[in-house]
Amino acid sequence: MVLKGQNTTRTKKLNQSLVLKLLLQNGPISRQQIAEITHLTPATITYLTAELIERGLIVEKGDLQTKSPRAGRKSVALDLNGDSYWVLGIHTSMERLKMGLVNLKGRITDLQTIPVPSKFNEEEFLAFTADRIKSYLHDHSEMVIEGVGIGALGVVDIENGKLLGNRRLGWPDVELVSYLQREISLPIYLDNNVSAMTLAEKMFGNGKQLSDFMCIYLGHRIGAGMVLKNELYRSGLTGGGELGHMTYIHRGKPCWCGNKGCLNQYASEQAILEELQVSTADEVLRKAVDRDEATLEVIEKASEQIAVVLSSFINMLHLKKVVLCGTLSNPILPVKDIINKEVNQRSFLARTDAIEVESSKLGENIEVIGAGGLALWYGLYNKK
Ligand SMILES: [Zn+2]
Repeated sequence: MVLKGQNTTRTKKLNQSLVLKLLLQNGPISRQQIAEITHLTPATITYLTAELIERGLIVEKGDLQTKSPRAGRKSVALDLNGDSYWVLGIHTSMERLKMGLVNLKGRITDLQTIPVPSKFNEEEFLAFTADRIKSYLHDHSEMVIEGVGIGALGVVDIENGKLLGNRRLGWPDVELVSYLQREISLPIYLDNNVSAMTLAEKMFGNGKQLSDFMCIYLGHRIGAGMVLKNELYRSGLTGGGELGHMTYIHRGKPCWCGNKGCLNQYASEQAILEELQVSTADEVLRKAVDRDEATLEVIEKASEQIAVVLSSFINMLHLKKVVLCGTLSNPILPVKDIINKEVNQRSFLARTDAIEVESSKLGENIEVIGAGGLALWYGLYNKK
């Protein structure tokens, strides 16, 4: 949203945030192009970008190649200065903390994976997490870190920064953000890990230029996030997206969520490991590369099961792009191709307007990029 009128500090900050977001999605572009997209005057854009250049957030990058250059006018390209702004991205689960620094353009560095001791209660988990974050920040005290983003496994109360009661572990609600905020003075942003990954696709990945798409996480469990009209979809408290708990089989296997026959029980990484009786996803990938028949058959079946549930979903919302991330989206597996084919055959809306299923290009650390993305999006790119 462009704000016009009095050039108050707030208006200036919001419009600068908009310029940064445009450069993230379309950069490098010229001041003239920014003025055309935002409908702000060229003079205003010059004023806004001058300060961003002074702060080091954006840089001039030579002349733009245009098909019809205006005679006598140079069109200087502006781009984000990636390493000028860093945040800490943290993926939390009950098994491990994975953290790293993420820059303005989603580049990640200094990644650390820290195992969480098993049988922790919620208080021990909070103290451990705070301690490890403080230690990471201390080790990087020579850098200016602008904020902390946390993508957490499980159901998250995004408004109040809480992890909601975990039935599997018997934990009550955990006040993660308020606890950490007492120990860490940086702004902290919390969301569900799959929502964070969906945001990463919007900011740095396949969804960069798209206003509407769905991101599906095919990992230990199956989850989903959506971007609708350029915003991460919110259902109020939790953000929704529990694709893995949509029913695949009526009266099927019981799920810890209380329902029966959830998709997670048949097609998640965990279900595949159990069926193949192997202990790690890497082992599954190795067997698939070796063309092990039993492995390929189980993966093919799981992909079809995911496509069955996804087709129903597509019939409801008809989102035309689906981005897959997580272990099972690895291009050495046939998962993406099977889902693409099945969804386009099963969903009758897809026959009218085809669905494109793609694999994420953000790699295996997408959950940390997404967590950092929360701090970048809410702290810099999408200020409200
Ligand atoms: Zn379930």
